[in-house]
Amino acid sequence: MENRGIVVIGAGPAGLAAAVKLRRLGAEDVLVIERENETGGILRQCIHDGFGLERFGKSISGPEYAALLKSEAEELGIECLTGTSVLEISKDRTITAASPSGVVEIHAEAIIAAAGCRERSRGSIMIPGERPAGVYTAGTAQAYMNLYNRMPGRNAVILGSGDIGLIMARRLTLEGAKVSAVFELQDHPNGLERNIVQCLDDYSIPLYLSHTVTEIHGKDRIEGVTVSAVDGNLRPIEGTEKYYSCDTLILSVGLIPDNTILEKAGVEIDPSTNGAVVDEHLMTSIPGIFSAGNMLHVHDLADFASAEAEAAAENAFLYASGKLDTGRNLSVVPGEGVSHTVPGRITGHGPFTASLRVRKKERGKTVEVRQGGKILGYRFFPLVIPSQMISVDAEAAAGCENVEVIVR
Ligand SMILES: Cc1cc2nc3c(=O)[nH]c(=O)nc-3n(C[C@H](O)[C@H](O)[C@H](O)COP(=O)(O)OP(=O)(O)OC[C@H]3O[C@@H](n4cnc5c(N)ncnc54)[C@H](O)[C@@H]3O)c2cc1C
Repeated sequence: MENRGIVVIGAGPAGLAAAVKLRRLGAEDVLVIERENETGGILRQCIHDGFGLERFGKSISGPEYAALLKSEAEELGIECLTGTSVLEISKDRTITAASPSGVVEIHAEAIIAAAGCRERSRGSIMIPGERPAGVYTAGTAQAYMNLYNRMPGRNAVILGSGDIGLIMARRLTLEGAKVSAVFELQDHPNGLERNIVQCLDDYSIPLYLSHTVTEIHGKDRIEGVTVSAVDGNLRPIEGTEKYYSCDTLILSVGLIPDNTILEKAGVEIDPSTNGAVVDEHLMTSIPGIFSAGNMLHVHDLADFASAEAEAAAENAFLYASGKLDTGRNLSVVPGEGVSHTVPGRITGHGPFTASLRVRKKERGKTVEVRQGGKILGYRFFPLVIPSQMISVDAEAAAGCENVEVIVR
C-alpha cells in the first residue's frame, strides 16, 4: 500500500485542471490516475473548434485544449499514472487500480473523482427492431473517425439533437457521407444554437423536432429506419410512420455520469443526475472524496467542467489541511420547475453557487434560491431550456431550514 497526498481520478479537462490547481495552491503530492494511455479525456477526439473561450480566451480544438492542459501539468511536475484503471475506492479512501505493472493500492488524503460520463446507448432508449451492425453512439462514431481514421458509414440518419450528434452530422458530411436528417424527440433542439446553425443549417441537413425512430430494419447491416412523429406525451402517432433508407444510425441521446466506482464505495448518488450528491464544496457523502466535471453532472462546455474541478481542488486542499468548513447539514431541494441542483447539501457557512437544469423550456423566468421566506439569490433569464445548465449565486444559508431552488 502506497500513501499519497491528493489523488485525482481521470485526466480529462476536469482532472487535469484540478491537478494543476492543486499544485498552484501548494499541494506537494498530487497524483493523477488515467485509464487511457494518453491524457486529455474526451477532448482528444473532438477535433472541431469551439473549446477554451473561457479558460484560454480563444476558440481552439479539443486536442489543442488537452495539449495546453497537459503542458501546464508537465511544467508543474504532476505525476500521472496512465494506462491505469481505478477499480474500487473504499470508504477510507484506499484506491485499488489495475496498472500495467499489476494491481496497485494507494491510500489518499483526499480524492477528486473526475472520471467523466458515458453515452446513452440503444439499449437505454429501447428502439424496437433488428440488431444489425451500423448503429453507433455519436461518441463512438466520432472516435472511429477522429482517432482511428475509419468511416462508420456512407448514408446516415441521426437520432437526437445533442451537440455530439450535430457535430457528427457535419463531420460525416465533410467526409463525403450523406446525412438524411436529424430527428429529435423533444419539441426543441437539445444542442447549442451555434451548433444547429454551423452543423445543420450550413449543410442543409433538416432537423425534425417531435420525431423519433420507431423501428430499425436490416439483418447483418442496418438498411433503414422507420421514423414517427410523437405527441405531447412523446408517444409515436399512428399513421405518421416514414421509412428512411440508411446504412448508419447515429444515436446522440444523452450523456450520463459514470459513477460505478463511487456508488460501490457507498457514496450517496442523486438519481436525477446519476452523479454524487455533493455539498457546496463538491465533497460527496464520504468525507475527503470530492467529485467534479462530467462525472458529477453533465456540463455544456469543457471550460465549465474544468472550472468546477478547480473549485473541487481548492476544497480538497483545504480538507487535506484540516481547514474545510463542514459543520452542518442542510439539504438543497429542487423545487418547482427544477430537475436537479448541485450542490444537494450545504455543510459550511459561506455563500455558494447553485448549478441546475430546468424541467421545461420557458421564457422570461427567474430562478430563485430560497430558504423559508428568504431569497438567498436569484437570476432572471429571458429563456430557460433543459439543455442549458444555469447557475445562480446565493448568500450563506442561516439556521437549519432546507434550501429550495425554484423557477418562477
Ligand atoms: C463529442 C463531444 C463534443 C463536444 N464538444 C464540445 C465543444 O465544442 N466545446 C466544449 O467546450 N465542450 C464540448 N464537449 C464537452 C467536453 O468534451 C466535456 O465537457 C469535457 O470533456 C468533460 O470533461 P471531464 O474531464 O469531466 O470528462 P472526460 O473528458 O470524459 O474525462 C474523463 C477521463 O476519466 C478517465 N477515466 C474514466 N474512468 C476511469 C477509471 N475508472 N480510472 C481512471 N480513469 C478513468 C477517462 O479515460 C477520461 O480520460 C464535447 C463532448 C463530446 C463528447
